[in-house]
Amino acid sequence: MVTSNEKHVVIIGGSFAGLTAAYELKRQLGKRHRITVIDRQDRFVFIPSLIWMPFGWRTAKQISFPLRPSLESKRIEFRQATVEKIDPDRQVVAVSVPERPGEREEIAYDYLLIATGPHVHFGAVPGLGPHGGFTHSICTIEHAMQAREAWKQFVKNTGPVIVGAVQGSACFGAAYEFVFNLEYALRKAGIRDKVPVTYVTSEPFPGHFGIGGMKHAQGMTEWFFRHTKINWALNAVIEKVTPGEVHFRQGQLHHADDEKRVDDLSGKSLPFKYGMLIPPFLGVEAVRSSGLGNDRGFVVVDDYFKHAKYPNVFAAGVAVAVAPPAPCEAGCSVPKTGYISEVMAHTAARNIAASIEGKPLTPKPEADLDAKCILDAGNMGIIMYTDRVYAPKRRRWETLIPGPWAHWAKLAFEKYYLWKMRTGRVNWP
Ligand SMILES: Cc1cc2nc3c(=O)[nH]c(=O)nc-3n(C[C@H](O)[C@H](O)[C@H](O)COP(=O)(O)OP(=O)(O)OC[C@H]3O[C@@H](n4cnc5c(N)ncnc54)[C@H](O)[C@@H]3O)c2cc1C
Repeated sequence: MVTSNEKHVVIIGGSFAGLTAAYELKRQLGKRHRITVIDRQDRFVFIPSLIWMPFGWRTAKQISFPLRPSLESKRIEFRQATVEKIDPDRQVVAVSVPERPGEREEIAYDYLLIATGPHVHFGAVPGLGPHGGFTHSICTIEHAMQAREAWKQFVKNTGPVIVGAVQGSACFGAAYEFVFNLEYALRKAGIRDKVPVTYVTSEPFPGHFGIGGMKHAQGMTEWFFRHTKINWALNAVIEKVTPGEVHFRQGQLHHADDEKRVDDLSGKSLPFKYGMLIPPFLGVEAVRSSGLGNDRGFVVVDDYFKHAKYPNVFAAGVAVAVAPPAPCEAGCSVPKTGYISEVMAHTAARNIAASIEGKPLTPKPEADLDAKCILDAGNMGIIMYTDRVYAPKRRRWETLIPGPWAHWAKLAFEKYYLWKMRTGRVNWP
């Protein structure tokens, strides 16, 4: 029941950005206003752990929890539904629910937060991805489970492996983590010497990450590749994937055991028996069809994470459009990590609360966003920090700490973060 002064805030997405924003809004607004989270999934998934799932090191249950009890315990409403359409002029979203296929229901809002993450765009390269293509993905829990089944078969009947991120991707960190964990899994299984491993990326140098690199990242990543005997292809543009082969329009292949050898991949192909390639991301269909997004379907926001045309529409997380801070000839997009998604979500939530209560909004310019991240590499890793991730490299302060403690820190963080999100303690560090 909506009273005359009560506002209804609808949040689409119950993951890093959406769930953080929901709890933060509740802290700000208390019982005075109504908050509803809509997600097509009924569980929060700790996506960073999907890098371990294919090797049997995590189950779905260990890295997820149901959204409804956590939200309802804070008196936040939850709807498991897919938002099919957003109509910002009428201030409604149209949803469909699995129980009533073909039917749509409209939910009215006073304020909307779009936290829908990415559409994983396998269509960017013919033959890419697990839906009728020939490569695997770890972008969703379902994909990671499929990659797990294929891995079980692969270790019985091995061959070459290709891992990487195709042109236009943003999620390079996950691809690096996956290739180093895969290499570690092969060593643990005692089959490393039977399996040639190649990392393929559109980045111009290892450790570019779509942001122009970080201090020492190139040297450290190259050292990891040589030490673990993983070859790497740079500036790669993949033309298509066919069964057992990745075909290149361009790329340069570096060899871990020969520093001077670089092969031109233009018009050539590399064989694989197991492949995991991260595709580019787009905004989700509901945003792309709403007119709220840019040409790739990401929402362009101001320093308050508010839409330029609709002051009651905000966005946070991967759904937000971010300009690339560094050039990348073969095509790199900008990574938006879990931590950055949370910072955006806190900012958007506080500004929604301020708008409702007639208070001044607080800016958080994209160029001032910092990033904390751990790149896991099996039993090793790198802790990374930069104070201004989306600023040009020369204007950032950066630090990288490699070592086994990075892996231990990631394990501890996984447990802590799941607990923090399940119990709604989003004001904790
Ligand atoms: C394999 C992998 C490893 C990663 N590792 C790290 C890491 O180590 N550290 C780090 O900081 N970041 C990491 N990231 C990035 C991190 O996962 C993202 O930054 C984070 O998930 C973004 O959160 P989000 O809420 O914006 O989007 P998402 O997490 O993608 O969530 C979007 C939510 O919206 C819902 N949704 C989408 N469309 C609709 C719709 N139409 N209707 C209803 N619901 C909808 C989805 O179901 C989903 O729950 C990793 C990413 C991947 C893929």
